[in-house]
Amino acid sequence: MDDKLLGQYFRLSEFLRSDTAIRKGIDNMPGPDAMRNIETVLAPGMARVRNLLQCPILVTSGYRSPEVNRAIGSASTSQHTLGLAADFTSPDYGTPRKIAQRLMEMGPSIRFDQLIWEGTWVHISFVAAAPRGQVLTANFARDGRVTYSPGIA
Ligand SMILES: [Zn+2]
Repeated sequence: MDDKLLGQYFRLSEFLRSDTAIRKGIDNMPGPDAMRNIETVLAPGMARVRNLLQCPILVTSGYRSPEVNRAIGSASTSQHTLGLAADFTSPDYGTPRKIAQRLMEMGPSIRFDQLIWEGTWVHISFVAAAPRGQVLTANFARDGRVTYSPGIA
């Protein structure tokens, strides 16, 4: 694979790597539409995050092929399958909660579609036009179910 640089900070491989795909031997290569989203929407969005935080970003999950997404039990409508979402941490900046709060405050300049504080990571998505700017906190129930409440709790 041609591991090209997408802008100043990220390589394509950072948005494609999936532990689940490796472990289960699942292909995680995006089709042309998702690839275009990664290059023209997700990577530029993550560059705005990187510029705001001024700290290295560790992408823990970017693009997920439908099969990878099924394997981890995520909703089939997940923006990860479109190449529009990334889960990440930035330990040098601070906790995922601190990151989510900062991104929420700076929402208009980051122009995210959805921002979710997921406890041990931050989920963020971007769209080509008309981002919703929605902010949520994920609540993980003991039975494994996830519910979402508005704002950063
Ligand atoms: Zn996510």
